[in-house]
Amino acid sequence: MAEEAMPDPDHHTPVFRFAPSPNGVLHLGHALSALLNAERAKATGGRLLLRMEDIDIGRCTPAFEQSIRDDLSWLGLTWEEPVRRQSEHIDAYREALDKLTSLGLIYPAFLSRGEIKAHAKRAADRGHSWPRDPDGAPHYPEFERDLDPATAQQRIAKGERHSLRLNMTKALSLLKAPLSWTEGTDNTTIAADPAAWGDVILWRWDAPSSYHLSVVVDDALQGITHVVRGRDLFHATSVHRLLQNLLDLPAPHYTHHRLILDKDGRKLSKSEGASGLGHLRAQGLSPLDIRGLLNL
Ligand code: GLU
Repeated sequence: MAEEAMPDPDHHTPVFRFAPSPNGVLHLGHALSALLNAERAKATGGRLLLRMEDIDIGRCTPAFEQSIRDDLSWLGLTWEEPVRRQSEHIDAYREALDKLTSLGLIYPAFLSRGEIKAHAKRAADRGHSWPRDPDGAPHYPEFERDLDPATAQQRIAKGERHSLRLNMTKALSLLKAPLSWTEGTDNTTIAADPAAWGDVILWRWDAPSSYHLSVVVDDALQGITHVVRGRDLFHATSVHRLLQNLLDLPAPHYTHHRLILDKDGRKLSKSEGASGLGHLRAQGLSPLDIRGLLNL
C-alpha cells in the first residue's frame, strides 16, 4: 500500500477532508460539502484530503468509489493521494475500541432495533416516557447494561448477533469538565450533549467498527483541523467530542453547513436520481451550473 497522507509536521497548516461513503452516487448535498471544503482549504492555504468511509462493506462498492472520484474531478476538485479507505484500517478502530473496553465502558448489546422499539412502546403504553436520540430513535434500555457477564459470554460464544455499545452514564462520569466545540466562521462555542444519544453503538454486528468510532479515529490520525459537513451531523458531534475526550484525541474546528433539500423539503438521499451529479452532468449542466444551483 502506498504511503498515506499524514499530518503535516507544520501544525499551522489547516487540514480539511471530504468523507463520503461509497454506497451510492454523489448528489447536490455532497457537492456542497465537497466544494465548501475545497473553498475553505484554498482560502486558508490548507490541505484537502478525501476519505472513503466504506466500513459498511455490504453496501459500499469500488464502482461507487470510482463514480465519486469522477464526479469530484468533474467539479474541479483535487485532493491528496492515496485516499484513506476505512475498510483498510479496521485495526486502528479496534485499538480505540480496546481502549474504551479497558476503561469498562463497552458492553455487548443483543437487542434488535425492533426489540428496542417494543420496549419504548410498552413504556409509552404504561404512560411512561422513553428517551429518544436526536434522530428520533428510542434509546437502548439501560437495564441491558447489567447482563450477567458470564451469560453474555455464552451467548456470544453461541454466535448470537450483538453489537457493542458505550455505557453513556459511565463515560460521562469520567469527564473532568463539560464538553463543547467551536462552530462556524464566528467560532461559537457549542455545549456538547452526548447524553442525548444514550448508549451509542461503537461496533456494529453487520460491519466492523461504526461511523462514530472510525470518524473520530480518522480525523485524529489524519491530523484534520477543520471538519466541514452537513447540518444533519450537528448532533453527532456531541458523541465525537465525547470519544475524542475518552481517547485523548484533539478536537477539530467544526462547521455544519446548510442542507440541500428536495422539493418536498426532505434531505436528499443517495437514491435521489434527479439530484445525482452524474444525472445532472448527463443533462448538460456544467460545474458552474452546479455552483449556481447551490448558490455558491
Ligand atoms: N461519511 C459520512 C457521510 O457520507 C460523512 C461523515 C463526516 O463528514 O463526518 O454522510
